[in-house]
Amino acid sequence: MAIAITNPATGEVVETFAPHDDAEVERRIAAAQSAFEVLKGTTFAQRAEWMRRVADLLEADVELLARNITIEMGRPIKQARAEVLKCAKGARFYAEHAEAFLAPEQLGDPSKVGASRAGTRWDPLGIVLAVMPWNYPLWQVLRFAAPALMAGNVGLLKHASNVPWSALYLDTLFERAGFPAGAFHTLLIPASGVERVLRDPRVKAATLTGSEPAGRSLGSIAGSEVKHVVLELGGSDPFIVMPSADLEQASTVAVTARNQNNGQSCIAAKRFIVHADVYDEFLRLFSQKVAALKVGDPLDESVDVGPVATKSGRDELVEQIQDAVAKGAEVVVGGGVPDLPGWFIEPTVLTGITPQMRLFAEEAFGPVASVYRVESREEALALANGTTFGLSSAVWSADEAEQDWFIERLEAGGVFVNGMTISYPELPFGGIKDSGVGRELAAAGIREFVNLKTVWRA
Ligand code: NAP
Repeated sequence: MAIAITNPATGEVVETFAPHDDAEVERRIAAAQSAFEVLKGTTFAQRAEWMRRVADLLEADVELLARNITIEMGRPIKQARAEVLKCAKGARFYAEHAEAFLAPEQLGDPSKVGASRAGTRWDPLGIVLAVMPWNYPLWQVLRFAAPALMAGNVGLLKHASNVPWSALYLDTLFERAGFPAGAFHTLLIPASGVERVLRDPRVKAATLTGSEPAGRSLGSIAGSEVKHVVLELGGSDPFIVMPSADLEQASTVAVTARNQNNGQSCIAAKRFIVHADVYDEFLRLFSQKVAALKVGDPLDESVDVGPVATKSGRDELVEQIQDAVAKGAEVVVGGGVPDLPGWFIEPTVLTGITPQMRLFAEEAFGPVASVYRVESREEALALANGTTFGLSSAVWSADEAEQDWFIERLEAGGVFVNGMTISYPELPFGGIKDSGVGRELAAAGIREFVNLKTVWRA
């Protein structure tokens, strides 16, 4: 894939970039290694000061960055601004908490292990390679970079080829904030250049957020090199609505959970599993609210849903809808391509999805919702868990015993009750099954790329 910005709202190529050649990649890896030698000797307090400055810079640049995101990948401008501010919040969160998350611990009774003192400490690893997607071009990177740098690691970013403005902003951000030169750099390389970097002995670990095939490829290379990986991959999250749910609120949140970021969120609710007692009413409310979404130019402040980020992504959604309709699914809302330039698709609600249809098993990465009718909580659970994915989930019920029943049994990295899945710096984030391995955010996120060193003294 060429490294280029193509505005998805118009289909026009805005700017193209020459990839870094081998010599430049080598220079950046060497600079990262030198920066690690400096950074690992700094204090948490020093790194926290730089990380707060990162937050300040992001806030100061919010308008420029939001516009870049909107032009690069089509995110509605209001949501793009919120993404930038969330990055600042994430940076401040790790500036404040990293030291406590990585504090050395002493064993209460060291005599049990024949020691005078025994415990653990967390040491940084060195260079971590981050392979990142375009769907949240700043937040996906920041949520890796803030804990990594606060732990004393350094980062090399291979960003998605369609968001080079965001990639190049991040290339200089950390150095501008005071971090040693080389502590965080972008590699402008295609996906085919990742293997060589990952096999470099100076690169100690990797993280990838993206599709399942990319995750499997990176994971197998890392496995052959015995390097630690975190993989944040796709999802087809269930959104379960039980009879006691507040349907007005559930349907409003369902619209956001499916359609925000033009439906291109890994943790978007994608399958709406509704109890028969409230199915008709939920479908009526949900469909009405989806039909009211304003689709159009994402730079327009009043637009709710912009284009899909790539032409291939839009075409894939059209094929998934056509496959379902050909096999008997019903289109309740949307289903078509609006008469606009660029890569738009109408926000869509489908019912009657069966296991023979692609949408039953595949992720729909765009504003396409599948609504299922179930007769019992057991049937809801079986449908929710009957997928290879296990990223997050949502349950709507006013009955606490029923909430607990689902919380215990849902096969997912998260359960959100009477709300939608959101990533918060304060809460761990990640999936199980084919949705990935490892966690980001909170204490768990900063403890992924560190050596938990056992220290025993006679
Ligand atoms: P993608 O094609 O996998 O791209 C993601 C990144 O991986 C890009 O930088 C891409 O580079 C690179 N890449 C692609 N193939 C690779 C390979 N074989 N080896 C190494 N790197 C490779 O993902 P996408 O389709 O653009 O993004 C959407 C997917 O990401 C969805 O499935 C979504 O659910 C998932 N996602 C997951 C999370 C999460 O936290 N779990 C968050 C966001 C998105 P190029 O751009 O150069 O190809």
